[in-house]
Order: sequence, then structure tokens, then C-alpha cells
Amino acid sequence: MGLWGQAATPETAEAVLRRRLDALGMPPFRGFATHTNRTVLLSITARGVLRMHRGYAWAPDRVLSAIVKYVRPGTRRATRRSAEREFLTFPVEVHAPPVRQSRRGVERPRAGDEAIHVRLAEMHRRLNMQHFGGAMPAIRFRLSSRMRTRLGELAVDARSGKPLEIALGRTHLKHGWAEVEQTVLHEMVHQWQAESALPVDHGAVFRRKARAVGIEPSARRHLGHGGPRRTVD
Ligand SMILES: [Zn+2]
Repeated sequence: MGLWGQAATPETAEAVLRRRLDALGMPPFRGFATHTNRTVLLSITARGVLRMHRGYAWAPDRVLSAIVKYVRPGTRRATRRSAEREFLTFPVEVHAPPVRQSRRGVERPRAGDEAIHVRLAEMHRRLNMQHFGGAMPAIRFRLSSRMRTRLGELAVDARSGKPLEIALGRTHLKHGWAEVEQTVLHEMVHQWQAESALPVDHGAVFRRKARAVGIEPSARRHLGHGGPRRTVD
């Protein structure tokens, strides 16, 4: 069973994907949803909803079987790892390109945003020179009103591992620039990990670099997650 060509509507792609996964022995989930966000190819929400990129509707059975293995409870760690590699390499966005106005997406800009963005870009340049030898590429900043518990977040491309953007909570911006600078530096340590092809996490390498740049090495308000979400607080 397959789905070929671009004529299919997203609903059809989702239905086909679901049917194919079920046929391959997918365990039951509370819900199932697809999207075209390439920073999170596959995830299981706290409410037990399985979310995945719609482009997997075009994947061969080999890739879908890897997904089934990955999400099935009790799969051994090594098997999960190789299953993850298998489904991350499938070029989902070729088949289901991102929707410009994604639901997660583009928040309407607010008055004063431009000045904030200018200030953040300057801050990034300065911290880059001070702590990273100027080696870090400039990065896009996004201001999010949905981030309430998290202060900041780095999104990296799930496949290439390259940094995409740093998101900051609008609530956090009210804490003042000194606080924001700490958060930007924290995310820049993650950016440095990603640029250096290191795991983007809060492990020993992170803590060592965090101390070196003069920030608290603890993960601040880090939210745990179960899937290969390619974002880190
Ligand atoms: Zn972090």
C-alpha cells in the first residue's frame, strides 16, 4: 500500500499513514496526529498522542516498521537507536513541505518586537566574541507567547543537526535583560554543541562549557521528553 503523487490532501495522507502503521503492528495510542514541522519528526505528547510528520505517509514499509519498533514499549535501547536513525533519514519534507501558516507557527509580531530583535542580535554577536571566539553563525530569534514554563529553547534540524533558531518566552523578557542574557548564553552553549556535532543535552560537556562561559551549569526548567524532539531548553 502506498500513497504517491502530490494530489492527495493532508487528511488522506494522515489516514493512509495511520492505516499502514496499524497494519505493521503499531501499539494503541490515545490519539494520532500529523504535522509538517521538521524540528519534531516524531513525538508522543504528555497526553499520549502520537504525533509525526505527515511526509511519513510516503515512506517505505522499512521506515514505518522502524517507527513501530521505536514507539513500541519494551523495545531494547540499541534497537530503538537504530530504528531512530532509520526513520530520521527519510526525507519527509520532500513529500510534505511545511505549511507556511503552521498552527505552532508564526505569531503575529507586536509593537516593539523589532527593537527586541535588534538587541538580541547584538547580544548574540557580543557573547559570540566573548565566549566562542566569534565562531558561532548568527541565528534567528523567535519570541513565543506560548512558552510559559520554559525560558528559552534551541531548535535544531532533526536530520542535519544544524541549529535553526532560538526561541525565548515573551514572559521571560519581562524578567529584564540581565536574566535574558543568561538564557541566551545557555541556548548558545546548546548552539555550540549542535555546531560542533555534539549531543545537544545537559550532560558533562554542557556543564563544563556552561561553567567556562560563566553561567549556572544546571538545566533550568528543563522539561523531559520521550521522543526524538529536536528542541532543547
Ligand atoms: Zn538547556
